[in-house]
Amino acid sequence: MTVLADLSLDVEQVRRDFPILARQVHGKPLVYLDNAATSQTPRQVIETLDHYYRHYNANIHRGLHTLADEATAAFEQAREIVRNFTGAADRREIVFTRGTTEAINLVANSWGRCNLKPDDEILVSQLEHHSNIVPWQLLAEQLGFRIRMIPVDERGALDMAAYRGLFNERTRLVAVNHISNAFGTINPVKEMAAIAHEHGALILVDGAQAIPHEPVDVQAIDADFYAFSGHKVYGPTGVGALYGKAALLEAMPPWQGGGEMIKTVSFDAGTTYADIPHKFEAGTPPIANVIAMGRALEWVTDIGIARIGAWEQQLLAHANERLAEVEGLRILGTAPRKAGVISFVVEGAHAQDVGLLIDQLGVAIRTGNHCAQPLLHHFGVDATCRASFAAYNTREEIDTFVEALQRVVTMVR
Ligand SMILES: *Cc1c(COP(=O)(O)O)cnc(C)c1O
Repeated sequence: MTVLADLSLDVEQVRRDFPILARQVHGKPLVYLDNAATSQTPRQVIETLDHYYRHYNANIHRGLHTLADEATAAFEQAREIVRNFTGAADRREIVFTRGTTEAINLVANSWGRCNLKPDDEILVSQLEHHSNIVPWQLLAEQLGFRIRMIPVDERGALDMAAYRGLFNERTRLVAVNHISNAFGTINPVKEMAAIAHEHGALILVDGAQAIPHEPVDVQAIDADFYAFSGHKVYGPTGVGALYGKAALLEAMPPWQGGGEMIKTVSFDAGTTYADIPHKFEAGTPPIANVIAMGRALEWVTDIGIARIGAWEQQLLAHANERLAEVEGLRILGTAPRKAGVISFVVEGAHAQDVGLLIDQLGVAIRTGNHCAQPLLHHFGVDATCRASFAAYNTREEIDTFVEALQRVVTMVR
């Protein structure tokens, strides 16, 4: 297969940025295909963390000393990097969180708690990660609104006719992922946002799997909220971001109280809150991780997100072709638009056994429910094996994986 010259990726050069790819597992070269759970970290990001702690570790925003100024500047520069990377208009629309999960909990507990009434409805897709289901269930138990599920078709794509049919005058919010971590389905979030807005509802997009794999423009999508995690886009764990339209964030109350998020605090006169985004950033944030996440996004930008996405599409096509050789293998999730994620089961071989045995051959894939039990149950399984690709994966690694899978399947059958 040929690609456009300007979208070709030098994978050997990319690999040199990742020290971990040189290690062995059980005496075999590591083949890391668990990128949908977490991606590996390039040396530029590791060096950014190291540099922070060696040279300018300080608490931000309040200090008057040099280190505090430097840390604050780097932290706010990371906000600008996220703004630019997501296509947001204004850096005040970028709230740092611990990750996608916390970002969604923020929207549920702030926007949701003051806008959702007992007779209201929200639409949540069947493709969701538990982190975009459970926060809504917790809130619904307290507030009494109704959660309606947007169903998937037999290929694991959202049923858009059913989606349209779910709206009524009580629909307030749509919660959907941009790309499914379990199946790799790419959802038509721009079209979904337009339909939600026609009905006066907002849309929250869980972008944890889209940010690392395709260009995202929150304004073009017209997302009201958009969430992602640093550790799935070559950054550190424990950090992520929420994009929210400024007018919405301004109207929302804080959801956690503490330092950093106030203007004034008084026992007599009460407390006034900081402006957005600081109103939603109570307490000392993970400063080093925020700065390093910014560095990770710069690393992606240097290579080119479209180039990474195109490379992963080639890997996906190659893997689909090679996996067809494995007898009794069934791929779950065959939507027409997919990212580099393949969920599969093999007849006569339990997913856990496959995962454990293939690890002995140096191949890391994920087995289990992928935090998407409702989806897997709908397809009649409790667990699948999942291989998911990143910029540093190669065709040769996919060949190694498929050959290892063949051996494992023969062993367990
Ligand atoms: C990983 C993931 C999450 C949760 O992200 P955390 O970093 O664990 O908060 C949510 N949604 C999707 C689609 C994911 O892939």
